[in-house]
This record gives sequence, C-alpha cells and structure tokens, in this order.
Amino acid sequence: AEPSLGNPQNTIEILKKHRLSFKKRYGQNFLIDPHVLDKIVAAAEITKEDMVLEIGPGIGTLTQYLAKAARKVVAVEIDASLIPVLADTLQEYPNVKVIHQDVLKLDLKELVEKENEGRPVKVVANLPYYITTPIIMGLFEKEVPMESMTVMVQKEVADRMKTGPGSKEYGALSLAVQYYAKPYLAANVPPNCFMPRPNVGSAVIRLTRHTEPPVEVEDETLLFQIIRASFHQRRKTLANGLKTLRESGFTKEEIEEAIEKLGRGSSVRGEALTLEEFAVLANELSRKQE
Ligand code: SAM
Repeated sequence: AEPSLGNPQNTIEILKKHRLSFKKRYGQNFLIDPHVLDKIVAAAEITKEDMVLEIGPGIGTLTQYLAKAARKVVAVEIDASLIPVLADTLQEYPNVKVIHQDVLKLDLKELVEKENEGRPVKVVANLPYYITTPIIMGLFEKEVPMESMTVMVQKEVADRMKTGPGSKEYGALSLAVQYYAKPYLAANVPPNCFMPRPNVGSAVIRLTRHTEPPVEVEDETLLFQIIRASFHQRRKTLANGLKTLRESGFTKEEIEEAIEKLGRGSSVRGEALTLEEFAVLANELSRKQE
C-alpha cells in the first residue's frame, strides 16, 4: 500500500478519530513531511531482504514507509493508547508486527533471534529524545545483531556522535559511538517537519556497525572507564582526570607511565586524544593489571 500518513492533514485526522493528544513525557513529535520520510528510508538503504526494527512507531507514519521498503518490520511502542491506532493505520501492511513494550526493558537480542533467526537487522527510528543515548548505547553494548541504525536525533547529539578531537562537541559519546560504528549525517531536519514542533533542530544520522572494532583493546570495560574519566571534567589534564582510576587499584606512577607512552607530554588533555590513543592507554594499563 502507498503510505497515507506523513502530512499534517492526515495526522490531525488520525488524532481526532482516536481522540489522541501528544504525550510530552514520551517524547512524541510525529513526522509530517514526506520528503524527510523518504530521506530516512533512503539513508537506511533498506531492501526487500531486510527486517527493520523500529523504535517508537507513534501513529505509524514512518512504519508505513518502512513496510513498503522492507521484507518485515517489527515496531516497539511504549504508549498503550497508540496500539489501537497502529492497528488502524497499519491494517494494509501485513508485514508489520507491533510490540507494546518499553524498548529499554525488552531483550532486543532475543527479539532479533526470534524474529529474524539471529540475522542482523536494520534499526530505523525517529527516536524519543529523552532516551536517545541509552537506546543507542544499549543496542551496541548488548550486541543486538544489527547492520546499521538510522535514527532521527537532536542535531546537537548527531554532531557529538560524528565529531573528532579538536572540536568542542567531542566527548565520551563520540568515542563510544565511533568504537562501534561509522557515522554518516544523512540530513538536517528543521522543527516544522514535526507535529508538535520540537524546541531543537534535528538530524538523521546513520551508524553503520563495524564488523571489526577499529582499535584492538584487551579490556573494553577499562577503555570506556578511561574515556569517561577523561571527559568527566573537561578542563582538567588527562593526568588529573585519570586520578579516579586509582580507585580501581592503579598507582599514580602506573597512570603517569601510561600517559607518557602517548608521547604527548604530561599536560595533554583528554579532549585531544583519538580513539587509537585511548586504546593505547587502555592496553598499557591493562598490562599493568596482570
Ligand atoms: N515514529 C513516529 C514518527 O516518526 O512520527 C513517532 C516518533 S516520536 C519522536 C517517538 C515515539 O517513541 C513515540 O511514539 C513514543 O510514544 C515512543 N516511545 C517513547 N519512549 C519509548 C520507549 N521507552 N519504548 C518504546 N517507545 C517509546
């Protein structure tokens, strides 16, 4: 079927028909621009072979577009009042399955196992902005079989995900995302493409999962611990930021030696380091732990 949603008139009509109002606490900003919807589907590079996992289908706008492009769509929605709406708006799309759940409480690895025989899925979503980071990091860390994730996020969050050292947006999120995936900014999306309008600009970003991590680390947990500690207080030197590692049993000398190995001097700041350099630090320190 051709998508019927994705414009202001039909969105208002569905809302009226089902006596719905927007729930701010669930981050509900529905897409009302067909060009943006086409752009998301194109950026996600969906084929008729693919299973798409959609997070937060809302009234089913993006879902209709995804269902047309993919073999199968599984959509997870938290809001009970939207479940009958989705049954209505998706009735002509037999390849869609809606699951009423909080995505953060769902075992997505098991879901992909069951719905796609464990083969990697493509995640596509206009994300609820209040939980963008936990959703994205959860998908990576819990090893959900996934080829790519194409998501609408706040513009500022998209910038943080794709930037490198030397920019003021660079931080723990940039490094965490880039450890797992290659970011590509597909589109900037202004507030008037949504109903109601969000207070911030948005962007569509595609994160293509690396088949092999770009750096080799012996201890991933330690790598992320170091990254978090380095950016905890931005204006401090790396040596100062990493003091908290002493709680994990590292001595002051061990930390200083590891920093020295970078050859960047003792006053280098965390925000100047690349992922490769963080990996060197992590490997130096994990060797000392043995
Ligand atoms: N996909 C629709 C669109 O593009 O028009 C709606 C996107 S809206 C930004 C975010 C959707 O995520 C809402 O439908 C909201 O109810 C849902 N949502 C919020 N928190 C959720 C959660 N924890 N688990 C699943 N869905 C959630």
